[in-house]
Amino acid sequence: MGNSDCLFCRIASGDIKSTLVYESDDILAFRDINPQAPTHILIIPREHIPTTNDLEEKHAAIVGKMVLVARNLAEKEGLADDGYRLVFNCNQNAGQAVFHIHLHLLGGRRFSWPPG
Ligand code: AMP
Ligand code: ZN
Repeated sequence: MGNSDCLFCRIASGDIKSTLVYESDDILAFRDINPQAPTHILIIPREHIPTTNDLEEKHAAIVGKMVLVARNLAEKEGLADDGYRLVFNCNQNAGQAVFHIHLHLLGGRRFSWPPG
């Protein structure tokens, strides 16, 4: 399942270090190395899925779990009441840089809308 050319597969295998905040048999969450907010966590599946375009019906449970992990971490980080943002970037127009899906959990400051 691990793809040695993929940064986030290498983080999932422990080959590259990260600041883990959650780990289960199918999901991992770690702090973004270049945080864009006081809290910036990435939630990823262990399975290598390049973009949200590659999601299929069989991924419904894992994607649901990723959102629930984000929800629980938001509470743990004290973001729940003030609010936070959850983001999946897909391909060039959204500026996706790592082609292994990841859910950004951003919080601890106010975000603008519409996004830049
Ligand atoms: P995206 O632009 O949605 O593909 O986001 C990729 C994110 O991965 C960016 O916010 C990067 O700062 C983050 N990132 C890249 N390398 C690492 C790393 N080694 N550990 C943690 N986060 C990383
Ligand atoms: Zn991967």
